[in-house]
Amino acid sequence: MVRPIYACYSVNMKSCDKCKGTLMLERAVDLDAGLAITVYACLNCGRRKPAEAEPRPLTARALAIR
Ligand SMILES: [Zn+2]
Repeated sequence: MVRPIYACYSVNMKSCDKCKGTLMLERAVDLDAGLAITVYACLNCGRRKPAEAEPRPLTARALAIR
């Protein structure tokens, strides 16, 4: 169920609204919370903004373990 997020560069190219640099899709993972979110990271200034509305659990199993 791993989607090739990094294959999306060419079709999903956007520019930073701050410096007009190139935004790259990046997956940010919070291991403590067990959440992952896809963000746009600017190669030029390092600015990041979420590409998704909210973080998603890494696995469905993570929710079952208490
Ligand atoms: Zn930028």
